[in-house]
Amino acid sequence: MKSNSLSGIVSCLSAYDPDALTVAHAQQIIHDYIEPITSSERVAIRSALDRVLAQDVISTIDVPAHDNSAMDGYALRGADLADVATLQLRLVGSVHAGHRFDGQVGSGECVRIMTGAVMPDGCDTVIPQELVDAADALTVSLSTSRVRSGDNRRRRGEDLQRGQAALSKGKVVRPADLGLLASLGLAEVVVQRRLRVAFFSTGDELRSVGEALAPGAVYDSNRYTLYGMLTRLGCEVIDMGVVGDDPAALETALRDAAANADAVITSGGVSVGEADYTKQTMAALGEMLFWKIGMRPGRPMAFGRVGMEGRQAYLFGLPGNPVAVMVSFYFIVRDALLRLSGANYAPLPRLRVRSQSAIRKKPGRTEYQRGIVSRQEDGEWTVRLTGAQGSGILRSMSDANCIIVLEHDQGEVRLNDQVEVVLFDGMV
Ligand code: AMP
Ligand code: MG
Repeated sequence: MKSNSLSGIVSCLSAYDPDALTVAHAQQIIHDYIEPITSSERVAIRSALDRVLAQDVISTIDVPAHDNSAMDGYALRGADLADVATLQLRLVGSVHAGHRFDGQVGSGECVRIMTGAVMPDGCDTVIPQELVDAADALTVSLSTSRVRSGDNRRRRGEDLQRGQAALSKGKVVRPADLGLLASLGLAEVVVQRRLRVAFFSTGDELRSVGEALAPGAVYDSNRYTLYGMLTRLGCEVIDMGVVGDDPAALETALRDAAANADAVITSGGVSVGEADYTKQTMAALGEMLFWKIGMRPGRPMAFGRVGMEGRQAYLFGLPGNPVAVMVSFYFIVRDALLRLSGANYAPLPRLRVRSQSAIRKKPGRTEYQRGIVSRQEDGEWTVRLTGAQGSGILRSMSDANCIIVLEHDQGEVRLNDQVEVVLFDGMV
């Protein structure tokens, strides 16, 4: 049964061990705990691109509204094709897209027709102009073997039928959907409001771009990768900067974030060996779980909800290493935010390709290696590692075009073994 408390959810799991959680369990707990936002807004259809539909879109018309021609050619009665090898038809008129042919078309007659033009009464078949044997202003000759009754007729409502759900609630609107909405004549559509996601980095060693780099300091890169990933996901971002390793500052930042955002992402301060105040501070502001997930990179993670003046935000406390932040985001936080946004989502598609690298792997944790998929001369797609795979080596992400996912139970990958990859970029 679904429970709205984290303790309730984990108590339903047969084997819950926060120090040895599988990726699948972490994903399940997060999924069960998160409730989608319910506020929506009406926007012009162009503004709906990449947004989440808040309602089913029901078609109020048939698309197309009439039977029409799929080709430039001649409309005729399919019954005329029976029992003869060749036909000579009398040309009785012509019709262009956007116009109707008003007359009746009898047996032995045809009408010159353009793509998209409404089928004349009596006609059910179109022979493309390139398939007729001869045509002049009065007659058209064709061999009946080149066309069958019903060919090249687009049926009324074959794209969308009146009363049918053209698009479902929860769909993320893509370019084809914009076109579909326009084909229904809709100017506006109701979408979920955008998620507001706040994030900040923790660590005394962090400097922001533009600041001088003192000895022992590093520039904060996590806020930039998070900005990019969240923006691509369609979220409104609230960049809260760097917070030092200080309990009071962390508490202030978390309260501030909870008051203004649907979700908060922090990086750093949750690793083993970090001062315990991070966990204490987070736990004091809401309901939190602290995990060691069987994944690499990205093992430590905090998840829960923090509150402020009646407002609550889901909190994802990610480790500090730059690659761990990105991998945790793509394989855990991304789905969580999609669920929160009300989107329907499915696991990212994976492809199986041959590995050109041997990869060390122990069963018992899921590993996310950075790879480059490329096409070999013989046409086969293969993957190779980007090089050093340390969780602090952001270059490994930048050079990659995919993540190689090595599942929990999988062992060593030998040269030329098949592995699963998730590609970074898609068609749109
Ligand atoms: P932590 O999880 O806080 O122990 O950080 C682990 C490692 O990641 C340390 O080497 C940090 O300096 C580094 N790190 C933490 N946060 C960031 C950040 N925002 N940008 C770049 N490196 C970071
Ligand atoms: Mg730190």
